[in-house]
Amino acid sequence: MYENCIFCKIVRKEIPSNIVFEDDDLLAFYDINPQAPVHILIIPKKHILSLAEVREEDQEILGKLLLGASKVAKKLAISEDGYRVVINTNRDAQQTVFHIHVHVIGGRPMSWPPG
Ligand code: AMP
Ligand code: ZN
Repeated sequence: MYENCIFCKIVRKEIPSNIVFEDDDLLAFYDINPQAPVHILIIPKKHILSLAEVREEDQEILGKLLLGASKVAKKLAISEDGYRVVINTNRDAQQTVFHIHVHVIGGRPMSWPPG
């Protein structure tokens, strides 16, 4: 059903990615266009379009995504200095891939507010 979704293709290993973490529910891999020294994407293996489309039944996977972000940040040694977790959602946030994903961005100081 999600044959043309680029992140489903990454889950199925039909296109390569640089994986940092994988379990039954999640995949974490390096962003192809990093915005900081560390830029990882964490996705559920289940195809969910966006944060705007989640349902009550997605509660567990949403929790796992944030736990995954915390683990990946520790693994890549950005946890203590700090990092940013971003879920771009729909047009105003410039979501470009419609398979929900958590950006974990770190390795440099960041500004606020975001652009
Ligand atoms: P967003 O704008 O939040 O939808 O983010 C989509 C992200 O996916 C961008 O940061 C892209 O650089 C990244 N991306 C797109 N295609 C790939 C790919 N094949 N492998 C890794 N990251 C990708
Ligand atoms: Zn997908």
